[in-house]
Parts: sequence; C-alpha cells; structure tokens
Amino acid sequence: PEPVQEKSTKTTCPYCGVGCGVIARVSNDGTVSVKGDPEHPANFGRLCSKGSALAETLDLEGRLLYPEIGGRRAGWEEALDLVAARFSQSIAEHGPDSVAFYVSGQLLTEDYYIANKLMKGFIGSGNIDTNSRLCMSSSVAGHRRAFGSDTVPGTYQDLELADLVVLTGSNLAWCHPVLYQRLAAAKASRPEMKVVVIDPRRTMTSDIADMHLAIAPDGDTALFNGLLTHLVTSGAIDQNYISAHTHGFAEAFAAASALELPALTKATGLTEAELRDFYRLFETTEKVVTCYSQGVNQSSAGTDKVNAILNCHLATGRIGRTGMGPFSLTGQPNAMGGREVGGLANMLAAHMDLEKPRDRDLVQRFWNAPGLATKPGLKAVDMFRAVAQGRIKALWIMATNPVVSMPDADAVETAIKACPFVVVSDILRETDTARHAHVLLPSLGWGEKDGTVTNSERRISRQRAFLKAPQEARADWWQLAEVGRRMGFGQALGHTSPAEVFAEHAALSGFENDGRRDFDISAHAAIDHDSYDALSPFQWPQPRGTAPQEKRFFAEGGFYHPDGRASFIPVEAPKANTGSDGFPFTLNTGRVRDHWHTMTRTGKSARLSSHLAEPFVEIHPRDARAIGAAHADLVAIESPCGIVVVRALVTERQAEGNLFVPMHWNDQFAAKARIDALVAPVTDPFSGQPASKNVAVRAMRF
Ligand code: SF4
Repeated sequence: PEPVQEKSTKTTCPYCGVGCGVIARVSNDGTVSVKGDPEHPANFGRLCSKGSALAETLDLEGRLLYPEIGGRRAGWEEALDLVAARFSQSIAEHGPDSVAFYVSGQLLTEDYYIANKLMKGFIGSGNIDTNSRLCMSSSVAGHRRAFGSDTVPGTYQDLELADLVVLTGSNLAWCHPVLYQRLAAAKASRPEMKVVVIDPRRTMTSDIADMHLAIAPDGDTALFNGLLTHLVTSGAIDQNYISAHTHGFAEAFAAASALELPALTKATGLTEAELRDFYRLFETTEKVVTCYSQGVNQSSAGTDKVNAILNCHLATGRIGRTGMGPFSLTGQPNAMGGREVGGLANMLAAHMDLEKPRDRDLVQRFWNAPGLATKPGLKAVDMFRAVAQGRIKALWIMATNPVVSMPDADAVETAIKACPFVVVSDILRETDTARHAHVLLPSLGWGEKDGTVTNSERRISRQRAFLKAPQEARADWWQLAEVGRRMGFGQALGHTSPAEVFAEHAALSGFENDGRRDFDISAHAAIDHDSYDALSPFQWPQPRGTAPQEKRFFAEGGFYHPDGRASFIPVEAPKANTGSDGFPFTLNTGRVRDHWHTMTRTGKSARLSSHLAEPFVEIHPRDARAIGAAHADLVAIESPCGIVVVRALVTERQAEGNLFVPMHWNDQFAAKARIDALVAPVTDPFSGQPASKNVAVRAMRF
C-alpha cells in the first residue's frame, strides 16, 4: 500500500479487547514497522506476538479492491444503487423485519453507530446483531440484571493492585496476552499476590497460578454459589453494603445454598479440599478481582454464571474499589464500542434500551427518527435461522465470517447460499462467507481506517490511518451512509467524516442525561477534526466540562436500576453434563496464541503460523488410548451437527473426557477443520449467546 506520510502514527491494535496502543512507522520506501506505544495506558509499550506482527499482514494479496456484483467488477454507484434498491424493495414488499445486518466487533465505533442509526432509526427494525453476541453478550445481560446497566466497574490497574486475581473461563496468557504480562509483572514484584485459574485445561495462564482448579464444564455457577454460601457462613459478607446498596440478597443466598457439599463437588468436579482452599482464600483476601471471559460467557447458562460471580462481589462490597471487583474481559477490539452505540439487537445507542419507552422516545427525538424500531431484533443465532427459513430476504454482513465462526456453521452456510440477496463488506475477496455474496463491497483494512475503539476497561482510543485506501476500498460507515441516503434517509446520514459521527455519538450520550445513564462522553460533543485527530485515550464516563479521569463504578452504590440499588440474582447450577448417547466427550473451543478469529489476517504471517501450524485436538492420554490414537494421528470429531478431522495433541494438560479444538482454521487453511460446524445452535435464554463450550461429541482415530 502507498504511504500517506513518512512519519510515525499513533493507533491501536485491531485484535483483542486489551486495546493496546501501537506506533506505526512508514519509511520512505513504504515499509511499515510497528512497536508498542509507551504512553498508551493499556500496554505502556508492550505488544504480544499478534500485535508485533501487524506489519506482516498489510500486503494487498487477496484484497477485495473494487465492488463486485455477481462476480463481475462494478462501480460504486451501481453497487450502492443495487444494495439500496434491493433493501428498499424487500422492506416495501415484506416489511422492515425482512432485512438484517450482521456486523462485527472489528467495526470501529463510527461504523457501528451509522449501522445502528440506519437499521434501528430509519429502516425501523431491530435486526442488527454482531459477532460480539458470540463473545460477551452474557456479560452484558449479567451486568444489566445486576447493575441496571452494562457497566464494567473496574480498570486494568485493579489486576495489578489486587492481592488475589481469580481467572475463570479465561486463558489470559494467550487471549489477552498484554494484560497477562501486566499481571505476571505485578505478581513477580509482589510474590504474596495470589492467582487462581479455573479452567478444565491447564493452559499457559496456569504458569503463574498458585491454584489451578480443573473445573467440570459448566461447573462455574455451582462453584460461585458455593462460594457465596461459604462467605455467608464464615461471616465474610459486608452487611452494611448489602443493606445500603442492594436488594434480593436473601433469595440469592437461598438459591446458592441449595447444593450441599457432595452435590457441589459433583457439579464442579473439584475435591472438597480444593473447594475449601479456594473459598478460604477468597474469604480472607479483601482485594479480589475476578476476571471472566468466554469460558463463562459461551454457555447455555452464561448469564447465570456471570451473576453468580457478581453476587459474590456484591455480597462482600468488593466492587469499584481499588484492586477489587468483577471484570469482564472482552474478546474483540471494539466489542465495548459496539455496546456503546447499541450494537446488539436488543440495545439502543448510548447504552439505552430498545425495550424502554423512555429511551426509545429520547433517541427518536435526538435522531428525528419517527420510524424508530419498537422492539428488539433477531439475535445472531435466530437471525441466521430466519435467513434459513426465508424470513430474511436481504442480508448485509460486515467484517465477519459467519460461515466459519457461527455455531452450526454448515447450516449457516446453507442459509446464506439460499438467501435471495446477500451483501458482504470485507477487506478480502475470498472468505468462506464472501464467496456466497451477490454484492461484494471493498472495505478499509487496519492502517487505512480512521475512528475510535473502546477496550475492556472502557478506554476509548483512536485508530488512525497511516496508509492510503487501496484502489476503491472505502470505510464501512461511508458505505452504510451512502446506502441509507439512496433509501431516502439522506438528512440523517449526511456525515462526511468519522469525526462528525463521533461528535454526534458523544452528543447523544449526554442528551437529557441527568445521571440516569452510565455512558457519557458529551465532553466531546463539539469535537472538531483537529481535536478528533489529536484525541488521547480516555476512560468514560467523561461528561461535558470535565477532565479525563480514572473512574471506577459502584464503590458507593449508585446503580442504574430505578431504585439505585444492585440486584442479587438467584441462580441455580445447571445439571452436570454427563454426555449424551453416542457422544461421550465434552468439546471446548477457543483460541491459540498467535491467531485471530478465522485467520483472514494472521494467516498471512509465516511467523505467526509457525507457532501452531495446523488445527489440533488436545486430548488426555487415557482418552487417546481409548480411541486408539497416538500423538499426531488424525482424529475425527463428530457431533450431530458436523465433523472435523484434526491432529491429536496428546497431553495431560487436558482433563479426561474433555477435548479442546481451536476455532480459527477454515477451509482456506485446512480441509474439514471448521470446529464451529460441530457446535449446536443452543443459546443462553437471557443473552442469546451460543454455547461454544461444553459440546457433546464423539472422537475416533481417522
Ligand atoms: Fe493486540 Fe491484544 Fe496483543 Fe495487545 S494483547 S497487542 S491488543 S492482540
């Protein structure tokens, strides 16, 4: 790509939710190099393997460089006219709910804002959902049930200041590597700090663990219910905090204490001694942070698991104070930014709620959008089900590859193939999803696009372009606005730059916000292009007229339910998975250290691909023997939904009866390795998040 300028540009890494600051330097000959930004508060100069290999993923090989219609090159005007016409036709003939957008935590906040404004504000449907649904929507639902808002109470610094860090359902070392580096450094300087890792596998994260609890799949609710019971019986709860700032404690305690110790050991797969030691450590340590990620969220009971964790922190008043609190680790670089503009089908912009008439009225007036959606749209799994049933007749997929990453991926591919009109906006021409598109729209890649992202600790940072857009590639927000204008919504979508979009988003966050909403960045409501360009990373909330500050929530209550109190949520442990007929193994899916999602970018780097060169299954030696497989043999893994063939990695790190297969590989890199083809489209009843963990499968030597 052609350089915009021969100088260094401060931007952010486009991979995980840590949101590290990056300095990209383009030299005179066009060569790009990257290093960590020493001034960025997320990483202070550190980068992981993926971040430091960013420059190796910027070539134009495989890029989609101009619009295509039905496989032939087209101009932007023709392509945009066609998309607008087909969406308008479907709406006219079948109503607004006959169209849908499926977007991505890879979008910048400005892209997300315009997508939501177009779909919810002017098309008048809630049918916009995102691959963040697959990542952390159970955390959103858990936060909202407990706090009355989707608020992450703490900051990254809390992990360094805690005396006990509990990591549950998180392989932090591989999935949030720089945060892991910060934690490991803090523990090295304060060896008295304790780390507990709760995971069926002994992952790299366990290297710094004082205690590894190889929990049974879906045993988390039982574990934290048992902890709540222990905290009550040992007198470790904070009665003053409970009385002053919460309600529902008695009901939550009654539900939590339903399991006696023998049942608790069975549900968690842990011994009495392990449970006792963990509970005692939590009881006696004031400064505790509990981090949780996909191992908790990606479950048919993910929201209950989140609330079981939040209950323990609320009961001890260990929330929003230095070195204390529950902490949701988001997978994607902008899962949080998407939430801020209403990126999920059941949300509205500025952390408002599509189901609340008062919120709908406010957004409707701010946008001057009389046709604003009146009900939530379809969540990801239901959206693709509706596509399969022919109820969605026009679908726009942006910056994601659902044919690889959605549960029941083969069925999703069949649905997309049968959809009458599919638009795909992407940087690559030949993804597993793009090959089924009627219209392909070329998007900007990292290094070419401008906007903002929000990381897991609510820190908003700029992503800045340092390369010119190649050929005809255009920003996603621009594509959406152009289609919206052609559909007749020009007045509402007249933005000419991401700075204008950000200013409107900031203004909405402060519009009639009397402290009723947590998200407020209205200090930036009048931001101009120069200030936007120079914007330094800051944490929200930062209301109008105030300076940036480190902010924690809820130490003194101040929750967002109407009575200002937090809700304890009574949760019951799900029944232990004993396998189903003919499918005796439990499969967990997840990430490896050096790849990102479906490898469309990290797969370009030979260095990254050499860490783990092909897909594999981690299997315990006794299980491997039972199916007659030795190390490096090919193993077929099958569920009622599909089959993959991967290499056996025989290791005692894995718990017996459990298998682990990474989620990255697609048909482009390895035949028959799309592990999400095996995951049933089972979802959590509150969040709609699919259960990508704890999948019943069988395995055999191939
Ligand atoms: Fe990028 Fe995450 Fe690595 Fe930071 S930790 S460099 S954000 S992938």
